[in-house]
Amino acid sequence: MLVENGLYIFLAIWAVLGFTSFFVFFLNENAKLKKRFWLPFVILVAVVFIGFGYLVGYDGKELFFIVPGVGLVSFFCIRSIKFCDTCGKTNMSPNLVLPPKTCLSCQSPLS
Ligand SMILES: [Zn+2]
Repeated sequence: MLVENGLYIFLAIWAVLGFTSFFVFFLNENAKLKKRFWLPFVILVAVVFIGFGYLVGYDGKELFFIVPGVGLVSFFCIRSIKFCDTCGKTNMSPNLVLPPKTCLSCQSPLS
């Protein structure tokens, strides 16, 4: 029962995070706002994901693999997505290892 209720709570939180990220990071063109909230958002998503894993019963050895895996994915998400100060677009590098250097929309350099 706890897992079943936890699943519904997780799915609700996941849906809220998905809609929030879509509106804040992809429809919104305020690069300053995006830059401010990107790191906390990625960390929040990682914590929710790991918390759900713990809630459904993963412990010890499973979390030993899940936590570094989620951390690695989070690191690459933070690194591979940049926001353009000129036009405000979100730029995602197709190569997760290398961050985008110029905006795909206006070709301005990304910081
Ligand atoms: Zn741009």
